[in-house]
Amino acid sequence: MLVSAKEMLNKAREGKYSVGQFNINNLEWTKAILLTAQEQNSPVILGVSEGAGKYMCGYKTVVGMVKGMLEELGITVPVALHLDHGSYDGAKACIEAGFSSVMFDGSHYPIEENIEKTKELVAECEKLGLSIEAEVGSIGGEEDGVIGAGECADPNECKAIADLGVTMLAAGIGNIHGKYPENWAGLSFETLAAVKEKVGDMPLVLHGGTGIPEDMIKKAISLGVAKINVNTECQLAFQEATRKYIEDGKDKQGKGFDPRKLLAPGFEAIKETVKEKMELFGSVNKA
Ligand SMILES: [Zn+2]
Repeated sequence: MLVSAKEMLNKAREGKYSVGQFNINNLEWTKAILLTAQEQNSPVILGVSEGAGKYMCGYKTVVGMVKGMLEELGITVPVALHLDHGSYDGAKACIEAGFSSVMFDGSHYPIEENIEKTKELVAECEKLGLSIEAEVGSIGGEEDGVIGAGECADPNECKAIADLGVTMLAAGIGNIHGKYPENWAGLSFETLAAVKEKVGDMPLVLHGGTGIPEDMIKKAISLGVAKINVNTECQLAFQEATRKYIEDGKDKQGKGFDPRKLLAPGFEAIKETVKEKMELFGSVNKA
């Protein structure tokens, strides 16, 4: 059964660890992440961007696939199915389709409009027992074609959004999506501490988890980050393993062309990446 992310994130914040959100793209991705969470006895959040949702033939298909897997694979750890960087309409569609959690990314709206739309969606989620994430201060990098520059959120705006009753808050603290550039300035712990000061016990979310040095991840967790989003890193692990399989000529040996064999190294590479992240985030055996 899918669960809201509320309980797992409040426990993570109290226990000073983070739950990983791993974005999914297809069956192999989803299976790899769910099996690893079960093996590691870790709670997990499956992230679905609007683009990935479209790619997988719509939110209903995603809900059907994930629910089927929970049952057929005997997954008993807490699993939330979460819309990543949702638009207002996207969030509504996911609520309707059976997601257990949504993110409404209103960071590109003026703060008043972000507040207005977040408020409406909070009410809807509350009614259904779903969790909801909001974002303040646009997080840089490229996300489904939207490019931001890695700004730092205004702590007062964070408080205004947190007070609306969202479950978790993504605040820009210099983090960006995708690979970090050579000259990246690092996370702004000053901003993180200032946000934490304003929002109190609200679990904070760190987007763009790929390539942030381990010591920065640990410091961010100690300052109230209870959810960390990982996307690009699984893609790179999958790509590297798949490339190696083909470059080694394995696809031309025997039945190596069988998609179940061709996709297996990438699948294993995602599992390994997810396991490493769960160990780093401290969520192993916290199910
Ligand atoms: Zn993000």
